[in-house]
Amino acid sequence: MSDKPEIRYCKKCGCELTSTNKKKLCENCRRDKNGLIKKFGTGAAALASLAFVVITKGKGGGLKK
Ligand SMILES: [Zn+2]
Repeated sequence: MSDKPEIRYCKKCGCELTSTNKKKLCENCRRDKNGLIKKFGTGAAALASLAFVVITKGKGGGLKK
């Protein structure tokens, strides 16, 4: 067969990736993904601190017999 460069497509939106792009996602989707991770990280941190407060409060009073 010919040694045509393999055309790859973005895993997310299906758009054609440039041959220099070694990632599975196009630039757009990578940016989106990074934003999502950032958002998710912030949410997770908030949730974790909330859980910590609940646990601490639970230990401090409510659950005592
Ligand atoms: Zn994409």
